[in-house]
Amino acid sequence: MSHLFDTYVRMPVALVRGDGAWLYDDQNRRYLDALSGIAVCSLGHAHPRIAAALADQAGKLIHTANIVRIPEQERLAERLAEISGLDRAFIANSGAEAIECALKLARRHAHARGIEQPAVLVASDSFHGRTLAALSASGNSTIQAGFGPLVEGFVRVPFGDREAAAEAFEQHPNLVAALVEPIQGEGGVRVPPDGYLSALRDLCDRHDALLMLDEIQAGIGRTGRWFAFQHETGLLPDVITVAKALGNGVPIGACLAREHVAALLAPGSHGTTFGGNPLACRVALEVLAIMAEVNIPAQAERAGKRLLAGLRRALAGVEGVVDIRGRGLMVGVELSEAAGELKDAAMARGLILNITRGNVIRLLPPLIVDDAQIDLIVEIVADLVREKFAATV
Ligand SMILES: *Cc1c(COP(=O)(O)O)cnc(C)c1O
Repeated sequence: MSHLFDTYVRMPVALVRGDGAWLYDDQNRRYLDALSGIAVCSLGHAHPRIAAALADQAGKLIHTANIVRIPEQERLAERLAEISGLDRAFIANSGAEAIECALKLARRHAHARGIEQPAVLVASDSFHGRTLAALSASGNSTIQAGFGPLVEGFVRVPFGDREAAAEAFEQHPNLVAALVEPIQGEGGVRVPPDGYLSALRDLCDRHDALLMLDEIQAGIGRTGRWFAFQHETGLLPDVITVAKALGNGVPIGACLAREHVAALLAPGSHGTTFGGNPLACRVALEVLAIMAEVNIPAQAERAGKRLLAGLRRALAGVEGVVDIRGRGLMVGVELSEAAGELKDAAMARGLILNITRGNVIRLLPPLIVDDAQIDLIVEIVADLVREKFAATV
């Protein structure tokens, strides 16, 4: 009998070590990683510089709590400001915690404006995490089921629809913020129409609302820019949440904000025991340093083009393929029917991938994948899809 809560559907494989984009199980079988622990291990596994930074920092100082200055945390905030264009950071431990921080900023902004019953605009099919406020913000009934009453104060509109967002702002004068993913991850790797985020920026400006972008999955180089919003020129959000790839597997999250927004939280108004400790911040600094040195965003853009082009070529005309889409190394293959079994079939072929929304093959390989590895992903995915639909006719 397992002593673990039964909260995950797990594949019957135990991975015990990794090397770049490769993973090895306890039988020493090798797998190509096309998931990165869900967009986390962007620099691959067992990166020697990450391992060295971890060991070095662990030998010096792991934790102090935020009762003193933490130089690594200050440097990380500075670096995050440089790559994002925002000014300040609150360092947390996870994506959901970064979202909580963003939602608390929205509430503070509301009360500063004298709005007692504020609401945040959120999107259909969104995913923001599993804490009560984050799951309430999410457009996903599965993660909400049985946890009512949900946190109130959300107005939901279809993702990518700027008219619907404009109407919501007209209908709900209590909207104080918009929280969306620049590219939806769990929602099926959905890229909004060009100009969507800028349209939201415009709406937020006109209604004195905060534009808050959840870059937890798309950020830190994955889509070919440091942040996915940077594909739209001239756009600057008020708040960004990041996590996943920031620590390459060491838990860390951050809520970034412009100066006047960060100023809504004063000493004593928000906090965390672990968040921003020297260990996690040192690793995140190393992650960002390595990524800048080898220009990981550019690599992700180039590799992503190869992956998309390869999939489109290999799956051209294949029945059952509805859409192949994505940006950088955040790619989805939407199929016409449920495809949950493909993740086990892929595992049997030595490829780790994930199925989201039931019928979308999601590919989030480490950003350090080489061309041969991309081509292998294409080959196996194309085989699996062809076999699946050949079997049903
Ligand atoms: C993974 C994810 C989260 C939640 O992050 P956790 O670290 O699991 O709490 C929030 N938003 C998006 C877009 C995510 O992909």
